[in-house]
Amino acid sequence: MVSDYIRYAREDGAGWRETGKAMGLERAAEESGYDLAELAFQQATGQRLGSGRDDYAYRDPSFGWTCRSCGEAITDRGPYSGPADDERGHKADCQRHADCQRHADCQRHADCQRHAEEIAAREARWADDDQDDDAGEV
Ligand SMILES: [Zn+2]
Repeated sequence: MVSDYIRYAREDGAGWRETGKAMGLERAAEESGYDLAELAFQQATGQRLGSGRDDYAYRDPSFGWTCRSCGEAITDRGPYSGPADDERGHKADCQRHADCQRHADCQRHADCQRHAEEIAAREARWADDDQDDDAGEV
């Protein structure tokens, strides 16, 4: 299930843009003119790709996952307003959430060296997982 993959990516600390890249949505983003992060969220919530917010099948879509840092169930409302507003449910002292907010200003992590390193490490780990999973569930 693609939503399991997305949930795994979000729980692993990937942002929506990074999740979209991992899903191979870069071309769709180019062609549709939609933001890569937005397409990933549309995919996660079962929207038609490139549908836009006005065309959502239901109001206020959200995607659920569990924060590994604070252990809370997160209601993720997409890449629109930044982690402070879009990720509801973190504990007040959640370290991951604090990091996200601190980095929300750095062009959504794009130019941030620390995040570049994190993303590279994650991509390598996911590549390993893919190999492990080949014989596993669909
Ligand atoms: Zn948290």
